[in-house]
Amino acid sequence: MQIIDGKKIAQEVKDQLKETIEQITMQGKRIPQLVVVLVGENPASMTYVRNKERACEAIGMKTKTLRLKEETTQEELLTLIDQLNHDPSVDGILVQLPVPAQINEQQVLQAIDPSKDVDGFHPLNVGKMMINEATCLPCTPKGILRMLQSIGYEDLSGKRAIVIGRSNIVGKPVAQLLLANHATVTIAHSRTKGIENLCREADIVIAAAGVVKLVKADWIKEGAVVIDVGTTRDEQGKLCGDVDFEAVKEKASAISPVPGGVGPMTIAMLLENTLQAYIAHEGGRENGCTTV
Ligand code: NAD
Repeated sequence: MQIIDGKKIAQEVKDQLKETIEQITMQGKRIPQLVVVLVGENPASMTYVRNKERACEAIGMKTKTLRLKEETTQEELLTLIDQLNHDPSVDGILVQLPVPAQINEQQVLQAIDPSKDVDGFHPLNVGKMMINEATCLPCTPKGILRMLQSIGYEDLSGKRAIVIGRSNIVGKPVAQLLLANHATVTIAHSRTKGIENLCREADIVIAAAGVVKLVKADWIKEGAVVIDVGTTRDEQGKLCGDVDFEAVKEKASAISPVPGGVGPMTIAMLLENTLQAYIAHEGGRENGCTTV
């Protein structure tokens, strides 16, 4: 049984990105920049944003977090995004979700220049992903595919995969990327009946429901690969996954832990997307980002 060490794979990605940015710096060129917009003071969001800032700094990428007050209006936010869209020093714009209730999330995501949409949430980028065109892929799904690649799961022809969860940011896009890599994909969700039976048929299980220890050992086919996306905090503040790790690892051929699995990959992919957007902005490539 192999533990899929997301922290280690993410570090390898970041080391490569750091090297590229060092070369850019040595050549005296403009440094890539990620701007994060945080509206309000959601504690989890504040932690995520700090982690993103630190990750950028560690690889020499420029970063700025614009912290806006909780009462920020839709118009104020759209005006700011417009300014960032037109700022040639900015390669990536990320609006940290969730946004306060007075703000229309979809309208905000759609206002971001698709070439700076390093989260891959703009409908144009989502659409390109659906038709397998090179684009900025959403970070968590892209990271999951990289984790699969790290254990030799590249061409998924003949493999059966199940994705538990159908959100726009994880479940649906990861299912699409698995499909694009030739897996036969089932998407299960809170209204699916008999998930355990569907799960037992799967060679690859992606758990992204946000329900602690939802996936039990007897749901898992012997030798399946299990990726745990869930990050739920228990009462003690401990990060818990969707998979009953200790029991499932006895049946899986490879499994990702929480923490230290998908989380670090998500940030690494964000940095990679920002660098790819930079390369596109500097005229190196037509599309902002690329496929996995
Ligand atoms: P979400 O709440 O938007 O979606 C959850 C999905 O799970 C829904 O589609 C729902 O139908 C399904 N679901 C809920 N309960 C279920 C059940 N009992 N059985 C089957 N399906 C069920 O959440 P999300 O944004 O997709 O995130 C999912 C989890 O992944 C959360 O724990 C989140 O914190 C985590 N997450 C982690 C990262 C990371 O980088 N590690 C990134 C994004 C999300």
